[in-house]
Amino acid sequence: MADSSFYSGGLKFTCRQCSKCCGGSPGFVYLSRRDLFALCDFFNLSVSGFTEKYCRWADYYGGTTVLALKEEKDFYCVLWSADSGCTAYSARPVQCSTYPFWTWMINDKASWDECARDCPGMNSGKLWSAETVSEESRRYSENEPVYKEEVLELIRAEKNEYAECK
Ligand code: SF4
Ligand code: SF4
Repeated sequence: MADSSFYSGGLKFTCRQCSKCCGGSPGFVYLSRRDLFALCDFFNLSVSGFTEKYCRWADYYGGTTVLALKEEKDFYCVLWSADSGCTAYSARPVQCSTYPFWTWMINDKASWDECARDCPGMNSGKLWSAETVSEESRRYSENEPVYKEEVLELIRAEKNEYAECK
């Protein structure tokens, strides 16, 4: 059972840009439909072009398959650069922009403190109000990954549109 009372006075967090959550160990940055369109706009690519260059398929719950960003050397996100960090920062996925206020991370104080061991930005720096923490957590939980079938349908629609324009 979630215990939101531990952050009634807010939670402290400022990213120290250590890059730990962008690589170094295996993981998945899932993309929702909203994320996919935001990144396609950012890179000025079609769904087909963006997914081919930057994405992979990931197994998800109930035997489903969803869209995720590729990983490169040392499990670093394909959008991460050693020189400049996230190369798509203003269009980064909701999974990234809502960190560390993910639902299960703020479930209770023990979960929060456990996660803070891996993130030097947690429990220091800017104080985020309880309302903002809850809002970010809601954004995270509502940002469902886009299923493979939906992506293939979008790519098919793009191809049809292109064929009609010719
Ligand atoms: S682990 Fe924490 S401090 Fe490091 S980059 Fe990620 S959010 Fe920032
Ligand atoms: S999209 Fe950006 S912030 Fe998110 S994991 Fe990749 S490099 Fe990091």
